[in-house]
Amino acid sequence: MTNRAEALVDLSAIKSNIATLKAKAGVDLLAVVKADAYGHGLVPVAKAALEGGANWLGVALLEEAIALRAAGITAPILAWLVPPGSDFQSAVDNDIDISVASIKALDEVSAVKGVKRPRVHLEVDTGMTRGGFLDEWNKIDAPHLNSVEIVGIFSHFARADEPGQAQNLDQLVRFKKMVASLESFGFTNLIRHLSNSAATLVDHVSAFDMVRTGIAMYGLTPDLNNLGNSQSLNLKPAMTLRAKLHLVKEVPAGSSVGYGATEKTKSDTKLGVVAMGYADGIPRIAKNAGVFVDGKRAPIIGRVSMDQFVVDLGANSPAQSGDWVTVFSTGTNGEYTADDWGAASGSINYEIVTRIGPRVPRIYQL
Ligand SMILES: *Cc1c(COP(=O)(O)O)cnc(C)c1O
Repeated sequence: MTNRAEALVDLSAIKSNIATLKAKAGVDLLAVVKADAYGHGLVPVAKAALEGGANWLGVALLEEAIALRAAGITAPILAWLVPPGSDFQSAVDNDIDISVASIKALDEVSAVKGVKRPRVHLEVDTGMTRGGFLDEWNKIDAPHLNSVEIVGIFSHFARADEPGQAQNLDQLVRFKKMVASLESFGFTNLIRHLSNSAATLVDHVSAFDMVRTGIAMYGLTPDLNNLGNSQSLNLKPAMTLRAKLHLVKEVPAGSSVGYGATEKTKSDTKLGVVAMGYADGIPRIAKNAGVFVDGKRAPIIGRVSMDQFVVDLGANSPAQSGDWVTVFSTGTNGEYTADDWGAASGSINYEIVTRIGPRVPRIYQL
C-alpha cells in the first residue's frame, strides 16, 4: 500500500541534535520523549536519542515508560505525570523512576512492596505554579522519605524561553533553597535537574547534574522570536511532513473555495487538493501557510477540511495529481517549517508536531 501522507523522521538529525545539546549542557542529558516523542514516534526516537548520547529518557505517563521497557530499552527512565491511584507497582517492577509532587502520592509510592525500593524524584514548584511541591514541602520529614529511594530533585521553568525575565533567576534561587533543605535531611548524591531545552541553550548556570531537552532534540526552536530559528541554534529539524495531491485542477477567477466559501480565486489558476486535513493535525485555522511543490510555495486557499485542504498552485504550475508536496520541513530550500505552521495558526511548533495524527505513518530515515 502506498501512503497518501507521511511524516518522514530523520533519526540522524535527532542524534546530531542530542550531541549538540549535550555538548552545550556539559552534563547528563535526559531526552524527553513524551507524547509519542513529540509526534515523531516513541521507540525509534528513544533508541536514536540513546545512540546519540542521551543518558536518560523522560516521559509524562507511566504507560509511555512501560512501552519503552517493553521495547527492550534498559536506560534510566523518569515518568513525571503519575497521579495518585496509578499502578506504582508496575513502575517499580519495570525499574521506572517516578516523580512525586504530593504527600498523597509519596504515601502510595512508599506502600509498594517488592525487592527494590521505589525510585523517586521529588518535583518542586519554584514559581511556575503547575506541578511540584509547594507548601506541602514543609510537611516532609526524613522518615517519610526513607521508605523510598530519593534519587533526584527537579523543577521546571515557566519562562526559560525569555532569557531576560527576572522569574528565571527567582526560580533558580528557590530551587537551590529546596535542594539545600532536602540535603539537610541527609540525602546526598541527588540528581538535580531544572533546565528544559530553552535553558539548556541559553542558561548554563541552571544545568546542575542533568538537563531535560524536548523540543530542541527534534531540531525545533523553543521560541522563534526570542531564541532564533533552528538554523541559528545549530539544530536540524527531524520531521518532514508530506502529502499527495489528491487532485490538481484548473479553475476560473472568482471561484469560491471550500466550506463557508471564505475565499475566492483572484485569477484563473490551478488548485491542488492536498490529502491531509484537521483529522491529521493540520490546524483548521491556519492562515498564511501551505505546501512547497516544484520549488515554490503554494498557499492554502479556503478552509482546511477534515481530510483535505486546497492550495493555490498558480496558473503555470507543472504539478500533477498524485505528486508529493511538502507541508513542512527544514525550510532550507524555502519550504514552510513547523515554526511557520505554528505562527500561521496562533500556536507554536510544539503543538504542530505533537498533533500530527495517528493516521499519518511515521517513516524513519537513518
Ligand atoms: C515537556 C517537559 C520538558 C521538555 O520541555 P522542552 O521545552 O520541550 O525542552 C522538560 N521537563 C518537563 C517536566 C516537561 O514536562
